[in-house]
Amino acid sequence: MKPEAGALPPAALRLRLDHAALAANWTALDALSGGARAGAAIKAGCYGLGVAAAVPTLVAAGCRDWFVAHWQEAAEAVRFVPAEQVSVLHGPMTDAEACYARVLGVRPVLNSLSQVRRWLAAGGGPCDLMIDTGMSRLGLPLSEIGAPEVGQLAIETCMSHLASADEDCAQNAAQLARFRDVTRAVPARRYSLANSAGIALGADYHFDLTRPGLALYGGVPRPELAGRIAQVAYPEAAVIQVRELEAGACVGYNATFTAPAPMRVGIISMGYADGYLRCWSGRGQVHWQGKRLPVLGRVSMDMTIIDLSAAENCGEGDWVGLEYALPEASATSGLSQYELLTLLGRRLDRA
Ligand SMILES: *Cc1c(COP(=O)(O)O)cnc(C)c1O
Repeated sequence: MKPEAGALPPAALRLRLDHAALAANWTALDALSGGARAGAAIKAGCYGLGVAAAVPTLVAAGCRDWFVAHWQEAAEAVRFVPAEQVSVLHGPMTDAEACYARVLGVRPVLNSLSQVRRWLAAGGGPCDLMIDTGMSRLGLPLSEIGAPEVGQLAIETCMSHLASADEDCAQNAAQLARFRDVTRAVPARRYSLANSAGIALGADYHFDLTRPGLALYGGVPRPELAGRIAQVAYPEAAVIQVRELEAGACVGYNATFTAPAPMRVGIISMGYADGYLRCWSGRGQVHWQGKRLPVLGRVSMDMTIIDLSAAENCGEGDWVGLEYALPEASATSGLSQYELLTLLGRRLDRA
């Protein structure tokens, strides 16, 4: 009997992380942030890469400021980083959440006067403040920044968020001008405006702290970052069956591909339930030993069929890599670079 008999076999699909590329991306974004420090947006499980896999690498690279959206995410983050380095973007919606922030020792990002009052009533302490400079999402409206309660806060980071930093448009300069006014009106230890794309808008946008997310994980939201940001996430799937098709054989749901000649195809263990959505049907590619192999027909829930014509030695149990460089994958699939990362499902083994 084998020693591991009865143990759970390894998953047939995985998300390989290039940890060196992740560390290098943070270092590059920190350098591009000039005199400001780069933090890291680690919400949505580091955009799908997995907190346990990605955060220790970012710590080793030198990152010390972390942004999560939910309280559940804060609870996970403090397993890997000191609580006082963690900011919770959604802020305290209830007294229980304000109390939780104080007990855990993380900073809530206060987004409204009612959240400001709730935080002060809970006893206050170091907090962050989000100002809405034109996105109309979370944040205190400019008309309320002079409220007396705001003056009672111990603000670590006063921040705002750019709506269109990935475009060249007048909104960026308009938000910058409004945020400059905020820095004069709201006392805080640090000010922060730029996300990944905002870092590439130049020194005016950097202030004291930047908050990249997407570019850490291999996304390229602006052309200035091309060549400086490396791919981090590599989805890979096992070939679980190989078949020889006769000319005229139909492939997959709704028979959207018909073999024009005898051909060899492989079934790989990744489908739309894993985030490889049906928009990749007939469009995606995988690679194996330097060969590019097209996706044939419709992507199924758990499987995708690929053309093995160019890889005659590829067999059952071999692993193929999905073509998933984010800028190119976004252009091919029509999905945003953010969606491509955050879609990747729970069945992928992450390491
Ligand atoms: C998600 C988020 C970021 C990171 O944005 P990217 O575009 O991924 O770099 C920064 N700040 C806030 C407030 C966010 O919600």
